[in-house]
Amino acid sequence: MGETGIIGGTSSLVREPVVDAFAGLRAPRRAAQARAMGMYPFFKAMARHSGGTVVVDGEQYVLTGSNDYLGLTQDERVRQAARAAVDDFGMSCSGSRFLTGTLELHETLEAELADFLGKESALVFSAGFLSTASAVSTLGGQRNVLYFDRENHASLIDGSRLKANRPRRFEHNDAADLERLLKEDEGLPGGRVVYTEGVFSMSGHIGAIPEVVEVAQRYGARVVCDDAHATGVLGPRGEGSHVHFDLTDDVDVVAGTFSKAFASVGGFLAGTADVIDYVKHTARLLIFSTALPAPNIAASLAALRIIRSEPEHREQMWSKVDFMRQNLLGLGFDLLGSNSPIIPVLVGDESTAFQFWRGLWDEKVFATPAVPPAVPDGRSLIRTSFNSAHAPEHLERTLEAFEKVGRALRVIS
Ligand code: PMP
Repeated sequence: MGETGIIGGTSSLVREPVVDAFAGLRAPRRAAQARAMGMYPFFKAMARHSGGTVVVDGEQYVLTGSNDYLGLTQDERVRQAARAAVDDFGMSCSGSRFLTGTLELHETLEAELADFLGKESALVFSAGFLSTASAVSTLGGQRNVLYFDRENHASLIDGSRLKANRPRRFEHNDAADLERLLKEDEGLPGGRVVYTEGVFSMSGHIGAIPEVVEVAQRYGARVVCDDAHATGVLGPRGEGSHVHFDLTDDVDVVAGTFSKAFASVGGFLAGTADVIDYVKHTARLLIFSTALPAPNIAASLAALRIIRSEPEHREQMWSKVDFMRQNLLGLGFDLLGSNSPIIPVLVGDESTAFQFWRGLWDEKVFATPAVPPAVPDGRSLIRTSFNSAHAPEHLERTLEAFEKVGRALRVIS
């Protein structure tokens, strides 16, 4: 009999009383304090959303930090495609892709997406989180060693918890550190998979894809890139980071989402036909979850066709992003070296971040803070992003608010 059989197992004579598993469950104390002080920036409910601005409690705010990079959530063609799909199919597929939920529309989107991304095959999931987590839970393999950038998204990290594999973390965007780990692991059995991102969601850094791919290939490792914030944004036609860096075949699997530039919801993986077919038959997050609904597929398909054929949305986005980056830098803010539409503004400790948020809010600018544990202590930031839906007056109002609040809180002098 094992130890638990004597002390704590069902045969034990001394039984611990059962406690109420839900006793004392409350939101973290920091959330309660922030609410009490009127400094709570999360779960803000918007009455209206029109791209660059939103209405909250009857007041209009400039929205920064949205992932609608190309402003396509408001595009009439995208909305019309969704309306028509509701008429044809209703709101739910009422079954998983594996069983009764696959529509021809899913397969049309997969075929056009694979062609766009320069990959043999693609697979559509009901959320980006499910696709990126599946890229780890299925492709991670039981015996493989997995390498994660320290800034990788929660979905990749959680994916590794679904599998008893060996996650290791390399310093952010640091191919030399990745090489150090791969070298250390020489001689270990199993394959190797490296996970990186096209654009990192907090720092806004474009991934060091060429350097990571070069090291990975020298050590026989496969590369998976989460392009959630890069599809539609990077690449000559918005294909993403692998095409941007002319590494279309060298990035083995591209993971992505329809919830950002594609103005919808849902996710995808793209790679060789064999790998995608393997994922299709092994991804529990796909097989045991209801398929992406028709209106979302139709909206993503419409957005994909617009992204491919109308570069002006991307060009407008970049010109607004460059304008904001230059002006925020000119005011003296530290933007952590961001070179993408995600522009983090470093403000310091957590309490300054909440005060900064409140100051912006009072100026009718909606921008959310990122505080520990999402960022290191003392490195709290206001995470902004700008897109083609922002009018010049929205950008001016945002800059004026940042200058006023930044000076008042002595983040800039
Ligand atoms: N990967 C990254 C890098 C993300 O930022 C996100 C969401 N913000 C996801 C995956 C998950 O995508 P979704 O929100 O579409 O589920």
